[in-house]
Amino acid sequence: MKSIGVFCGANIGINPNYSTASAALGKLMAEQTIALVYGGGNVGLMGVIADAVLAHGGKAIGVIPQSLVDREVAHTGLHEQHVVQTMHERKAMMAARSDAFIAMPGGFGTFDEICEIITWNQLGIIRKPVAFYNINGYYDRFFEMIDHTVAEGFVKADQRHNIIVEEDPIILLQKLRSYSDATSDYWVDFKRI
Ligand code: AMP
Repeated sequence: MKSIGVFCGANIGINPNYSTASAALGKLMAEQTIALVYGGGNVGLMGVIADAVLAHGGKAIGVIPQSLVDREVAHTGLHEQHVVQTMHERKAMMAARSDAFIAMPGGFGTFDEICEIITWNQLGIIRKPVAFYNINGYYDRFFEMIDHTVAEGFVKADQRHNIIVEEDPIILLQKLRSYSDATSDYWVDFKRI
């Protein structure tokens, strides 16, 4: 695992733990020579993790749409900063450049990005591990909803269990390294078609 795509909030959240824990993950990635691939901004948890990676001698790669260069304060200290035209190009490049993905706490943008990666895995477009960094139990309610979707027959249990949820950053990286895809190729119940 040489690189991880990290999706996270453009805000830092109310609890200072969000920033502290994000910085801890960035430090570990640098120490384990895992490059950070992220949205290229210098705001919110994006800026926090990029700064932590850089402060500990790691490599950080940004991918930012032109329209967000000012709004998200494009980071000027990165090893690579790719300015692309659209959000879709950003997501495609981040997906291609990352060996695995982590969602840290965030809002709609973070949900959009990580859910797209999960669905690409489901469709077989990519086969790469996905983890949620569950700082402060932030994603507990999200996974209550996902478990509900499984119980109601809209998501296959193996697709749900294929997703790593972990609050300890050391264990999180270990789980990503030892991940093996245990899902079937069929996520649709063919009974009804
Ligand atoms: P948020 O989690 O809402 O704070 O958003 C985090 C980051 O996700 C934002 O800073 C945006 O750069 C990015 N983002 C938001 N919406 C999208 C989208 N539709 N596609 C790709 N990136 C997005």
